[in-house]
Amino acid sequence: MSGSVLVIGGGFSGLTAAVEAAEMGHDVYIVEGQSYLGGRVAQLNKYFPKLCPPTCGLEINFKRVKTSPRITFYTLAEVESVSGGPGNYEVRVRVNPRYTTPQCTSCEAGAAAATTEVPNEFNFGMDTRKPIYMPHPMAFPAQCVVDPAVAGTEEGEAIKAAMPAGHVDLGQQPETVTLNVGAIVVATGWAPYDAGKIDNLGFGRCTNVVTNMMVERMASPAGPTGGKILRPSDQAEPKSVAFVQCAGSRDENHLPYCSYICCMATLKQALYLREQSPDTEIYVFYIDIRAPGRKYENFYKRVKEDEKIHFVKGKVAEVSEDPATKAVKVVAEDAVGGGKIEQEVDLAVLATGMQPTGALKAIPGIEYDQDGFVVPKEGIIPCGCALRPIDVVSSAQSATAAALKAVQTLRRAG
Ligand code: SF4
Repeated sequence: MSGSVLVIGGGFSGLTAAVEAAEMGHDVYIVEGQSYLGGRVAQLNKYFPKLCPPTCGLEINFKRVKTSPRITFYTLAEVESVSGGPGNYEVRVRVNPRYTTPQCTSCEAGAAAATTEVPNEFNFGMDTRKPIYMPHPMAFPAQCVVDPAVAGTEEGEAIKAAMPAGHVDLGQQPETVTLNVGAIVVATGWAPYDAGKIDNLGFGRCTNVVTNMMVERMASPAGPTGGKILRPSDQAEPKSVAFVQCAGSRDENHLPYCSYICCMATLKQALYLREQSPDTEIYVFYIDIRAPGRKYENFYKRVKEDEKIHFVKGKVAEVSEDPATKAVKVVAEDAVGGGKIEQEVDLAVLATGMQPTGALKAIPGIEYDQDGFVVPKEGIIPCGCALRPIDVVSSAQSATAAALKAVQTLRRAG
């Protein structure tokens, strides 16, 4: 029997569950697929309920992880198999190489020696990065990464030669770690639904159609546009913006469920735009606005009072772009007056929903429902958006509950 807990996923939920279980006196392992902890929250400009930047919540958790002798974490790691049962699981974890050593905390010299660039996944491809990079300015651990694609190449050797001795190690190999744990918390989070799959909404076809997560990165001072929300076609500030709600959510052809937070994300982003430019006209095309709870309802009421933010009840049927001007035309079915509404704007933002990571990559030994959410069972406890679409606060609450359930499993098995 093991008194340890495995947390799969090192985002806000996973960090919370890990810290709570460790503070209840148990050894905890975190397995995170990315090269950094912090998950999706790290990509946001601001998050509810206080609209603070991600640093305000994540840094506290990073500090608790760093100072806890009970927590061990692996990044660039994936669970390959889970066997056994409550109280006694054997979990095989593959840890992929980072090709750097912990003293490699700055990589300008290596980046200058690199000859290639690739789309920067952290910024949804809106800019590029070199093959040696710090994932983002507040990355934890603050250790650079080298792309596997350049290991064993001349470019990789040039990067290594340009860096201080001992910082780059291109000979690192993947390792397999076997963990014996008594309970597993699954906090694998979510990915933005692939907007390219929603044919009628123009993403990928129209230059000035972006997603809500792209807007978060643009609005971030550390993002690809230095904190400005700009039209991709000419890098100008948009004077009119349409938000398309339920982009892919509540749709049997895509995600059949409501993604819970994309209405609130739109209201927040409408305020980003209003702060950026007092003249910008904003149109929100919606089916229903979902603002769950008193705080969110009050926020919605406040945004509704803004005379530059227009709420249009109607499902968007088509988004297209004028090839000459790159203006975006949004066509919606008018749910109030009947007929069609057409609105031309500088920029359209698709409020894409949350797809659980389990729908994209299942972990062997974990059971999922038809949408990719984890099915809870004794000893395997999902939390956050691995369980259902929720906001950050509710994710943290569900993670605390998951830690408690994990400890109960250990006690029952012990
Ligand atoms: Fe649609 Fe709003 Fe639900 Fe998102 S939160 S799926 S935009 S109703």
